[in-house]
Amino acid sequence: MTVPQSPVWFITGCSTGLGRALATAVLARGHRAVVTARDPETVSDIVAEHADRALSLALDVTRPDQVRAAVEQAEAAFGRIDVLVNNAGYGYLAAVEEGEDEQIRELFDTNVFGLVDVTRAVLPGMRASRAGHIVNISSLGGLVAFGATGYYHATKFAVEGLSESLAAEVGPLGIKVTLVEPAAFRTNWSGPSMRQSAQHIDDYAATAGARRASTLATYGHQPGDPARAAEAVLRVVEAEEPPLRLLLGRVALDVMTARLDSLRDTMDAWRHLTVGTDYPEG
Ligand code: NAP
Repeated sequence: MTVPQSPVWFITGCSTGLGRALATAVLARGHRAVVTARDPETVSDIVAEHADRALSLALDVTRPDQVRAAVEQAEAAFGRIDVLVNNAGYGYLAAVEEGEDEQIRELFDTNVFGLVDVTRAVLPGMRASRAGHIVNISSLGGLVAFGATGYYHATKFAVEGLSESLAAEVGPLGIKVTLVEPAAFRTNWSGPSMRQSAQHIDDYAATAGARRASTLATYGHQPGDPARAAEAVLRVVEAEEPPLRLLLGRVALDVMTARLDSLRDTMDAWRHLTVGTDYPEG
């Protein structure tokens, strides 16, 4: 069924996991979609089922030439992009001291600068139409941090701050921004997609080392269902007033509730020092 003038989605990282589930759900909903992947062969099955309103494009978000070309082709094919989903991303296991320069920079190139590049390529079209929705797939790990994933958290915290600023800037222009913050979902994230430092320092065995192992052990058993996550993203995009942030998964809710409580407790406990640092009034 083709819905005329249905929203046009542009999604990064659709070969597997959340991106693939979202592309599938968007097309099942009757919307149009530009389904991008580093290797477009990986999404040919999704697109083939809806050839009249789906376009697959090669897109490695770390390649500015491909970013520009993909956005141009999407706009040429469908006339506009209504919903951008910056989903492409991966994790990196290393204690902070174990981190390797090249791996860290590649991680930021994908998770942060890739997202920035795609966003900046799509914004002129959205501004021109005074409409659009940018959905940035962050993480529960964009709000709270644990050992062994410090560099990953750093990328997702960057996405959080950037998106909050973006929302303030583009909101008055009619463009919405939503950060999606999943807990553990059953994708390749903690399995084949995960990268790790070669270096393991013994002193971190009980902290980062233990968490490396427990993170890898979640693969295949994560509680989150990517199809349900995709449905939640659709619901948010269809909402009259979408939230700036959407947690996904019960664990995300529990962890964030505890974090807010402890943040409040710490603020209260140190309030006297905090407020004592301003110049005396008058
Ligand atoms: P996934 O199954 O590993 O999927 C990651 C996707 O990102 C793949 O399609 C991968 O493509 C793509 N990708 C990686 N680097 C790319 C690049 N340079 N250019 C374009 N695409 C690239 O894992 P996922 O869980 O669906 O991950 C999707 C997003 O959710 C990520 O941003 C991740 O950080 C976030 N997230 C996941 C979880 C979770 O538990 N699953 C939790 C919180 C946040 P290739 O096949 O080409 O590698």
